[in-house]
Amino acid sequence: MQDTPVPPVGRFAPSPSGPLHFGSVVAAVGSYLSARAAGGRWLLRIEDVDAPRSVPGAGEGIVRTLARLGFEWDGPLVWQHERLPDYAEALAVLRARNRVYGCACTRKMLAGAPRAADGSARYPGTCRTGLPAGQAARAWRFAVAPGVVRFVDRVQGEMAEDVAADVGDFVLLRADGLYAYQLAVVVDDAAAGVTEVVRGIDLLPSTARQIALQAALDIPTPRYAHLPVVVDAYGQKLSKQSLARAVDGLPDGQVLFDALCCLGQAPPAELAGAPVAHIWPWALAHWSLEAVPRTAAVHARRDYDR
Ligand code: GLU
Repeated sequence: MQDTPVPPVGRFAPSPSGPLHFGSVVAAVGSYLSARAAGGRWLLRIEDVDAPRSVPGAGEGIVRTLARLGFEWDGPLVWQHERLPDYAEALAVLRARNRVYGCACTRKMLAGAPRAADGSARYPGTCRTGLPAGQAARAWRFAVAPGVVRFVDRVQGEMAEDVAADVGDFVLLRADGLYAYQLAVVVDDAAAGVTEVVRGIDLLPSTARQIALQAALDIPTPRYAHLPVVVDAYGQKLSKQSLARAVDGLPDGQVLFDALCCLGQAPPAELAGAPVAHIWPWALAHWSLEAVPRTAAVHARRDYDR
């Protein structure tokens, strides 16, 4: 008897630090088509765990823009600010397993530490064996197990990272009392039954950390695919930080068509400028992850910055 393939569960998880820009649309389209073209579910979660970086109203704005572009999500829209008890529970599990410890180090004390691939300070392990006398814990860190984390990225290929050596014990509960993205994303994806993560390559350096956390929490590791990010004429990633312009106000069909081009999907020219309702059926019928450029960066057909 043949096994029935299990339909995937994918998701898009934008941070509400500003309006949706073209680079995020490309990640949304890639994750959507990967799940939906295989008959799977696609979930939407607003990652507002980093409250100080969340812009009031931006989450709602992103949701409206996605709906206007023709995205349809399954199940309830999830907001991370409603999920804090789950993060606390995961931290308690790790604490019971002796996989977290309090850390008294300040940012200033770590300023000279070597850098990890994503620019974050590599933690030298100062508080791993106990807090210095008279000092209180400010943050809580994950005690990373030694060894290399390996995974096959469906777009970028074989990956390997020695998290203990390259990143060190990373923060799960920050000194400002907020849960770290790394913990929240792992807990949320597991709770929602996500089986595939398709997102921008800027998050590739986080993946080994997330796999290490999944192992410590005994939760399954989804499949990963990291899409190239869209860069401007200067090679700068379109991002809210680089003040990439919002796609709101631009023609929906043009935005969707251009996003497909960035993903190597080569939509037929007659769909350029067509309404999104005409473009989606083509995109779903022709989706090919193999066609996505195996590069770190792609250019859009027109300017989407500023
Ligand atoms: N919230 C993250 C971002 O907007 C994405 C997280 C993820 O896809 O894992 O960059």
